[in-house]
Amino acid sequence: MDKKSNLHFDSRVIHEALTPELWQGATLPPIFQSASTAHKTAQSLSDTFAGKQKSHIYMRLTNPTNSVFEEKVASLENGKGAVVMSSGMAAINNTCMALLRSNDEFICGSSLFMSTYLLFTGVFKKYNLNAKIVDIKSTKEIEDAITDKTRFIYIETIGNPKMDIPDIKKIARIARVHGLPLIVDNTLASPFLARPIDLSADVVIHSTTKYLSGHGAATGGIVVDGGNFPWENNERFPDFAPFIERKGELALLDKIWREHHINFGTTQAPFHSYLAMIGMDTLALRMERHMSNAVRVAKHLKLHKKVKWVNFPGLPDHPDHETANKVFCNQGYGAMIGFGLENQEQCFTLIDNLNMIYHLANLGDCKTLIIHPWSSQYISFDPDVKTDLSITPDLLRLSVGIENPDDIINDLDQALDKI
Ligand SMILES: *Cc1c(COP(=O)(O)O)cnc(C)c1O
Repeated sequence: MDKKSNLHFDSRVIHEALTPELWQGATLPPIFQSASTAHKTAQSLSDTFAGKQKSHIYMRLTNPTNSVFEEKVASLENGKGAVVMSSGMAAINNTCMALLRSNDEFICGSSLFMSTYLLFTGVFKKYNLNAKIVDIKSTKEIEDAITDKTRFIYIETIGNPKMDIPDIKKIARIARVHGLPLIVDNTLASPFLARPIDLSADVVIHSTTKYLSGHGAATGGIVVDGGNFPWENNERFPDFAPFIERKGELALLDKIWREHHINFGTTQAPFHSYLAMIGMDTLALRMERHMSNAVRVAKHLKLHKKVKWVNFPGLPDHPDHETANKVFCNQGYGAMIGFGLENQEQCFTLIDNLNMIYHLANLGDCKTLIIHPWSSQYISFDPDVKTDLSITPDLLRLSVGIENPDDIINDLDQALDKI
């Protein structure tokens, strides 16, 4: 591994964590499809349970294929450890639950992935876990919302579908001054475009279903712990003592894994980790193409007479264009575009007339995908809440794929001609 430590990101994304010498020369990790692992001696299993020996016990706890994926993503995010889970939502739920006790609070913006929003404002409320939703761009609103019950701040690198970009470094500074960890859902950027831990965030979450895996083949989630948060002597976290004692800088990851992941059974199937790792080999290449395509498509839509507005951080008039240039560590602005037609009827006509672009609820696939959020994912939401979340009847959300950009544009154009 040391011989490879000076490689660039696009090489590391391929070579990181691979140990063919341990896999009979195989250059892809074996899929350890076994619910449990046998131990030769009573002492060996006892030592493994006691944490004195690094080995495997039972697949709900750990799996050797998953461990390779964890090492790979932790390294690419410049974190110190990771736990892979069955979905992005499992990763979000377990992380937040590990941090919260009943009656605790946390701070987030309103620009959240739909299920995250429902989890925070619905399910968590049942257990007195209280989300304080603020304008995440306002230092004053964040600071005013902090109380002695606050346990963390939660943001997304690129809000979905608002396409807003918070200043991670600025929010991390506020969080640190108040002794709070900052959690960042980095799904829409991927570690190719943004590395929140380098910007002083503490925890990074991904839905690996999206860009990391890249082919819409397997659901998955991962939590990466930056290992930099001072849990010790922090009066907000008296309950962290046993985890600090056991794992030191990785106390939170241990708490997430030990208390929540293994007891809630949010296990990742090793085959899903395997698929995600194959997908990740091309992450850098795909992201370059996704993002250059998105710039071309956004510019084209902006000039189209039937398109009323385009929301894409790569356009110079986007309100967060400058912040994006500060936050992102690579050329590009993601590959998600929001755009508006006259009304819902026109959106439906466009969708119904597409030939190549898929109409489905996912993003980050190498295929271009489109959805009308108002009538699908958000259909059961209160209209007022939809407005708050910038979900309007005229909005279409496009996840730009890696096809030839002319084919994406031609498909949109011929469908727009039908309106
Ligand atoms: C899809 C998504 C999730 C949830 O991930 P699943 O793998 O579907 O559970 C969380 N956050 C963001 C930003 C997403 O796009």
